[in-house]
Amino acid sequence: MDCSTYAKELKSLEKLRCQYCGSTVLTYGGSTFCHICEGLVLPAASPPEPISEAYSMFASGKIADAKEALSGACKGSQNARLLFGAANIFDAISDWEYSAADYGRPGFMYENSNSIYASLDTTSKSKEMLYKSIKLLLQEYTESKNAEASYLLFAANIKLKRKVYAFRQLAELEDEPSKYANTVYAAEYSEKSAKAHIDSLLGKHVNSLYYLSKYLIHLRKFKAASDVLDAINSNVFMPKAAYLMQRLKLLLEETRL
Ligand SMILES: [Zn+2]
Repeated sequence: MDCSTYAKELKSLEKLRCQYCGSTVLTYGGSTFCHICEGLVLPAASPPEPISEAYSMFASGKIADAKEALSGACKGSQNARLLFGAANIFDAISDWEYSAADYGRPGFMYENSNSIYASLDTTSKSKEMLYKSIKLLLQEYTESKNAEASYLLFAANIKLKRKVYAFRQLAELEDEPSKYANTVYAAEYSEKSAKAHIDSLLGKHVNSLYYLSKYLIHLRKFKAASDVLDAINSNVFMPKAAYLMQRLKLLLEETRL
């Protein structure tokens, strides 16, 4: 399938709302995985009100308001899912802030330093919330062996790049979350099985296109990766795909020098 087909296909998909982070998610039908937090999004689910508001602020570019709202929502919270959703919006904001640094600016680039410091600060907030969420999810999972908690533990650990913990959690998963999590793990760590995993999810979950682009970059097929990322970014708000596209452009500029 070529990239114009991906773009055409994405335009026709239905939308869901992620119950963890509030983002709009495209689905080929039924439940699918969130473009921001990787949570398993269920049809007709909705996020907690403070998360919904914070996400709307972020999506409309009100970054400072979104960060304040997220900090307020997380303060003293013992809700693992709320903390997981908030952590992932913080992480998406961090990517946005990093992307705001413009390396084409003349002079000493003070503005760039500000964007990068803001991004690092937001990343540390995201990590703090993810660790709190993991602590609560572990308690819940130990007591109940709840399948949702098990998958969220995988998603939180992979976000924190805790490879061993994410790998251990893979063995605890079943069904669609297991297939998807194995794809994410293989793509993130460039495992030999990545291509076969990604192929098995194309046309089922939109995020598989993001992992396809990562895999193509790993193979140094930059033009093909850029085409896939263009198809995503012109159809859906997926900050990690926008961030990856920006990193790819920088990489291509550097290799041209
Ligand atoms: Zn989400």
